[in-house]
Amino acid sequence: MGDPFLPYGRHHVTDDDIAAAVGALRSDWLTTGPAVERFERAFADRVGARFAVSFSSGTAALHGAATAAGIVPGDEAVTTPLTFCATANCVLYCGGTPVFADVCEDTLNINPAEVEKRITPNTRAIIAVDYAGHPADLDTLRAVADRHGLALIEDACHAPGAEYRGRTVGGISDLTVFSFHPVKHLTTGEGGMVTTDREDLARRLKRFRNHGIDTEARERLAAGSWAYDMVELGFNYRLSDIASALGLSQLARLGQNLRRRRQLVHRYREALAGLPWVRCPVERAGVRSAWHLFPVRIDEEAAGCCRDHVFRVLRAANIGVNVHYRPVHLHTYYRDRFGYCEGAFPVAEKAFSALLTLPLFPGMTDEDVDRVAARLAAAPREDSR
Ligand SMILES: *Cc1c(COP(=O)(O)O)cnc(C)c1O
Repeated sequence: MGDPFLPYGRHHVTDDDIAAAVGALRSDWLTTGPAVERFERAFADRVGARFAVSFSSGTAALHGAATAAGIVPGDEAVTTPLTFCATANCVLYCGGTPVFADVCEDTLNINPAEVEKRITPNTRAIIAVDYAGHPADLDTLRAVADRHGLALIEDACHAPGAEYRGRTVGGISDLTVFSFHPVKHLTTGEGGMVTTDREDLARRLKRFRNHGIDTEARERLAAGSWAYDMVELGFNYRLSDIASALGLSQLARLGQNLRRRRQLVHRYREALAGLPWVRCPVERAGVRSAWHLFPVRIDEEAAGCCRDHVFRVLRAANIGVNVHYRPVHLHTYYRDRFGYCEGAFPVAEKAFSALLTLPLFPGMTDEDVDRVAARLAAAPREDSR
């Protein structure tokens, strides 16, 4: 008998979470009711932002943020190639062009010096990603954005609860985006959120997620009025009350979740310390990562085998290792449409060929970490066919 399959990430749903969702199902509001507002208020307070606007997914939230930042056809936004494709796609949804800038070698977050080189008169925004949960170089990016009059959007889908120089991610950039996909820190099944300190942006986000209509059904009910006006082209990107009740219940455990992830990372570091060919992710001074992922880099020469060999050996041992990410510009769609080829972003591409995401989620046991570490240590000597 082999060991059970260990995924790289997994949701955590308790009886309280289930009771919260059932409570919403028994209420008068299945969507855009009081639970949405409660979840948004609690989320904004948790991350230290004035406003939080919920969306039906992180991808929809990115679309909302790009729209609120004023990205229109002809505009450019500078972003990282080492991310999930949704980060760059939101610029395309607005008719703009994503422009990539290479990453820093240590954190694998977008390199502010590279961003500055890519800015043109058409640039409207910078979209940074907090890769694996480690906040991007936000102060330096802020300075670049201010120097050129750009919006700073932060894709913090990996980083709820992360800290940067004493501040919590979500209250730092102009617009910060979160995802509630089951593999992320908190889940609503599908869901997302944008936080901001600016009331005008919050209002625009709320309108955009509701067809571009200037009032919500609940506001009209309260005002005793039927009147509504569609003032821009929006979408139905609303999060339901059922999902929001679940999200609110999950949010209460975020601190516990972050602590457990940190303990597991510590155990990984100790267990892997004797393997010079495994490079663990860094945490820069002044930063607390949210540790969404634990992506190590396999030094092919020192290991005497390639990343894909290690990947196959661990998968054969029922360990759900993964690769985050194939650089966005190397996907077929981006190659065909923009003519990208290999070599365009050497730091991101070199990292990609070495990256291997080890399992990390709060329900993992210490023994799970030890099992992964032991299999990893033995992988170069194993046959992978
Ligand atoms: C998960 C994720 C998204 C997309 O979120 P969904 O809720 O799945 O739409 C976007 N960017 C990054 C970096 C992500 O990890």
